[in-house]
Amino acid sequence: MSQVMKEFENRRILIIDDDTRIHEDFRKILGEKDNQSEYDELEAKLFSDDALNTGSIVYELDSAYQGEEGYEKVLAANKEKRPYAMAFVDMRMPPGWDGLETIKRIWVIDSQIQLVICTAYSDYSWNEVLYHLGASDRLIILKKPFDMVEVQQLTTALTTKWSLSRESVSRLHQIEESEEKYRTVVDSVEDTIMTIDKDGKILFVNHNPWHMINQAVGGNYYVDIKDEYREKVMQTVKDVFDKGEQKCIEYATSTGKNSTAWSEGRITPYYKNNEVVAATLVSSDISARKALDWQLRHDELTGLSNRAQFSTYVESCLKNKRPEDKFAILFIDLDHFNLINDCFGHELGDKLLVKIARILNKKIEKNEMLARLGGDEFAILKNVNTGDSDIHKYAESLTDLLKQPLTIDGFDIYPSASIGVVIVSDASAVVTSLMQDADAALYHAKSRGRNRYECFDQAMRDEVVKRVNVGNELRQAIEGDQFEAYFQPLTNLVEGKVSGFEALIRWNHPEKGLVCPDEFIPIAEETGLIFSVTRKMLMMVCCQLKKWKDLGLKDISISVNCSARDFNEQKMQGIIEETINKTGADITKLELELTESSIMDDAESSVESMRILTDMGLNISIDDFGTGYSSFSYIKQFSIDKLKIDRTFIKDTPVDQDDVAIVEAIIAMAHRLKLKVVAEGVETNEQLEFLKNAKCDVIQGYFLGKPMSADEATKRLQENNWPNQDLI
Ligand code: C2E
Ligand code: CA
Ligand code: CA
Repeated sequence: MSQVMKEFENRRILIIDDDTRIHEDFRKILGEKDNQSEYDELEAKLFSDDALNTGSIVYELDSAYQGEEGYEKVLAANKEKRPYAMAFVDMRMPPGWDGLETIKRIWVIDSQIQLVICTAYSDYSWNEVLYHLGASDRLIILKKPFDMVEVQQLTTALTTKWSLSRESVSRLHQIEESEEKYRTVVDSVEDTIMTIDKDGKILFVNHNPWHMINQAVGGNYYVDIKDEYREKVMQTVKDVFDKGEQKCIEYATSTGKNSTAWSEGRITPYYKNNEVVAATLVSSDISARKALDWQLRHDELTGLSNRAQFSTYVESCLKNKRPEDKFAILFIDLDHFNLINDCFGHELGDKLLVKIARILNKKIEKNEMLARLGGDEFAILKNVNTGDSDIHKYAESLTDLLKQPLTIDGFDIYPSASIGVVIVSDASAVVTSLMQDADAALYHAKSRGRNRYECFDQAMRDEVVKRVNVGNELRQAIEGDQFEAYFQPLTNLVEGKVSGFEALIRWNHPEKGLVCPDEFIPIAEETGLIFSVTRKMLMMVCCQLKKWKDLGLKDISISVNCSARDFNEQKMQGIIEETINKTGADITKLELELTESSIMDDAESSVESMRILTDMGLNISIDDFGTGYSSFSYIKQFSIDKLKIDRTFIKDTPVDQDDVAIVEAIIAMAHRLKLKVVAEGVETNEQLEFLKNAKCDVIQGYFLGKPMSADEATKRLQENNWPNQDLI
């Protein structure tokens, strides 16, 4: 017998009758256990169900002798929470309420109680009773005199019915209660929990404030799923139904106007009779994780994939590559982007990048990728469908496309780009080395004059390896004092004598011998070692200045080449002060040579840095003048005192009339700005004559002296007549 059943085991019965003998009769029939056996046996035969076996039922009999009294007892029993299961009510109980009245009243206060009207007279027909009390399954008419078995059976049946109905009500409450508990739990989880049928119809769904769907029970779940994911989700649900397996899936849903939520769902089959009848979907909102994920894999400015995502994509392309497939990686770098940033501001620079991204995006087809690697560098993964010549054409078309003038914020911008290409046909290639190869090719395109593309070849990789080796050796060179300063004389045409030198670095490599600066200065710049190199040179030069000063050669000045990276270092000022103090050299005899392009890379801050240095007393000249993009408005602001015309302009003078005109114009312009002019790379007497006539101030070149060691320079300086007066 169930736990619930036991609660109602002890069945209370109320006898309402004005005749005390009737009470005794009932007690005899129902009260004494000993007398029960014969009826029990009978019952057991009639109702084999254990629940109906009265053997264990104990009746608790109460008596009331008037309708009113009976009513009070029912009321009291209810209050006690020990209600009566049934009552026998006599029809006639003068002087009080009759049976009908009593029943009517009792039902008002206890709707569950089973009632038996006991009547000796047929003063009311069944129909009349119904007329007065209404149809009810809780009422039975019992005619006197009583048949004992009848009363016994009636009592068992009615009290059992009462008990069962109480039990079911109680069970229902319990179910409702547990349902509510479960509902509260289900509603309080952040995830969406729902049951759907095969067609996506929602059979159940929890609700919470974070809900990711717009649909309720009866709606269709698939409606909310973004078009591009719907098919996939439907197929997955179908699989869950067909195969009866749990599946996980990631998809996007639209949660309102233009807003998307990302869900990660686990779909579990729900079985009934060995058949999948529904699927339970538990999905979490992974929008925040997705957003972060997106940020990690994309460039915020252009919305393109970033380097990480690009590498991953290249990796997957390699993995899925069929032997006949071929693709190319192109690294694209905008030329002189810094200049654009400086001249027009970063905001315009950003707009240019976005525009370039759009232009490039049009050249991307399905299964290809455009990414922004950082700064002004983009990358494309391009499929090579036909021959390699196609990729050459493609790269060519990109350089052409990126050469088109653009108008941004009313300014005309003339961009150009350098491109490095690597063609991939071997699936065993490694992503990082492919990227390095593309970079090497790009480096090559840049060093060959920019605004062009280069395809990677093995020699470029060797070059990279060489650069890495040189970098390592440079570190040793700095520690081991393998550098030496050479000095090339600068001849003042007005005074007709050597007025100073340009210090040129030489590397006494333990195995390779003397290494020229062109071979290692760019690497020192790339690796950041240049600052240490410049520091060494400054020290050697200042020592030399001090030596010459001590030898009485006071008027001789020396210029030191300074890289863009050095110059932008705030430490430069401190290093110079320190070196001057240590060596005791005269700072006014020290000069710095800055290339035109290095100053123009960050013209604004160059103006400031130059002012600080010239305030300290040293001189600054612009090196390689004519090869960069100087703006004359800046030159006026620079605290410089010399321009050095690049030797490429001198080389063909005085034959090439264009160069003649350029050199004459530079000299005229410089003089108007009160600047002295140095001509570099003078190799012939004709060049010297032309420059003399053009009123060039200072000459430097093999014709009047090659770079030489400090000892030799000292020796020559001590000879009075240098250079030979016949020459000038
Ligand atoms: P640069 O500043 O233009 O230096 C002048 C270069 O032209 C020197 O080459 C010099 O030897 C060469 N030269 C001088 N007269 C003639 C001539 O009549 N004909 C020809 N064909 N060449 C001539 P070098 O010493 O090989 O230096 C090359 C470059 O390396 C320099 O170009 C400079 O940019 C850089 N460099 C040299 N020393 C240093 C240094 O200490 N620091 C830095 N940052 N760069 C340096
Ligand atoms: Ca120089
Ligand atoms: Ca130069």
